Amino acid sequence: MEVLVADKCGFCFGVELAIERAEKMLQEGKTVYCLGDLIHNKVVVQRLTQDGLRVVNSLEEIPAPAGGSNASEPVPTVLIRSHGCRPELIEAIGRRGLHLADATCVLVKRAQKLVRKLHQEGYRVIVIGDPDHPEVQGLVGYAPDVRVVARQSDLENLPEASRWAVISQTTHSSEDFARLVGLIAERDFQELKVVNTICRETTRRQKSAVALCRQVQVMFVIGSHRSANTRELAQICRRQGVQTYHLQSWQEFLPRFVEGKSIAGVTAGASTPSSIIQEFVDNLRRI
Ligand code: SF4
Repeated sequence: MEVLVADKCGFCFGVELAIERAEKMLQEGKTVYCLGDLIHNKVVVQRLTQDGLRVVNSLEEIPAPAGGSNASEPVPTVLIRSHGCRPELIEAIGRRGLHLADATCVLVKRAQKLVRKLHQEGYRVIVIGDPDHPEVQGLVGYAPDVRVVARQSDLENLPEASRWAVISQTTHSSEDFARLVGLIAERDFQELKVVNTICRETTRRQKSAVALCRQVQVMFVIGSHRSANTRELAQICRRQGVQTYHLQSWQEFLPRFVEGKSIAGVTAGASTPSSIIQEFVDNLRRI
C-alpha cells in the first residue's frame, strides 16, 4: 500500500510544552496534580501517571498542604493543561495554598485576554466552538454573559445587543468559523468585531489534510475521539469526499478499510504522539 503522510500533523507546540513541563516537574520529584487528562491521548497520560502524575477531577480531591514550619510534605503543584481554565480556578488554587504550574498554551491565553478586553470595551462576546470543550469552558469565565455558538440553531437564542465581538475556539475549523460569522453578520446590530483566534498549528494541519485528500483514495485520521482538533480534521477530510476513518491507533484498523484501495493518506491530531503515527504508517505500508 502506498501511504502518504500529511506535511503537518501530530503534536503541536502547546501540547509539547505541557508534556515537557509535566515531565520536568516529575523528574524534580514534585507532587503534581492535573485536573483531567493532560492531553487527549491515553498512551501519553498512562506514561505520565506511571511517572507519578496524579489525575483528579476537582481541586477538592487534592489534599491541602500541611501548615506550620514542621510541615514535611511537599506542597502539591496543580498543572493547568494547554486548554487553560476559568480564572476562578487559578484563584482557588492560590487560596488553598497549592502551587500553580500554568501550561495554558499562549494562543489560548491570548483568546482568554481578548474575551476580557472585548467585554471591557463594551462588546457582547460570542465564542464559536464546542460548549463542552475545556478550552471553551475556560474562555467563558473571562467575562460575564459570554455566548457560545456551536451551530446555526444556537444563533436563535442570542439576546439583542448592538455591539458584538466574535472569537473562536483555537481548534475550530476556519471554514465553519467563517460560515457562522456570516450568519451572525445577518443579524440586527450596529457593530460587529471579529477576531480570528484559530491557531495556525490547527489551520496548517487542516490545509495539509485537505491537500492530501486530493491525492489519496482513503484517509486515516489518527487521534483520540475526545480531541476536538482531531474530530475537526476527520470532518474536514470527509467534506472533501474522501472515505475517512478516525482511529485512535493501529489496534483499531480493519483490513476492509483499504479493500480495493492502493493509496492511503494519514494525518493526526495535535495530541497524537509521533510514535503512534509512525506505527500506523509502518503497518499500513506493509499491506
Ligand atoms: S492546538 Fe494550537 S492553541 Fe491548541 S495547544 Fe496546540 S498550539 Fe496551542
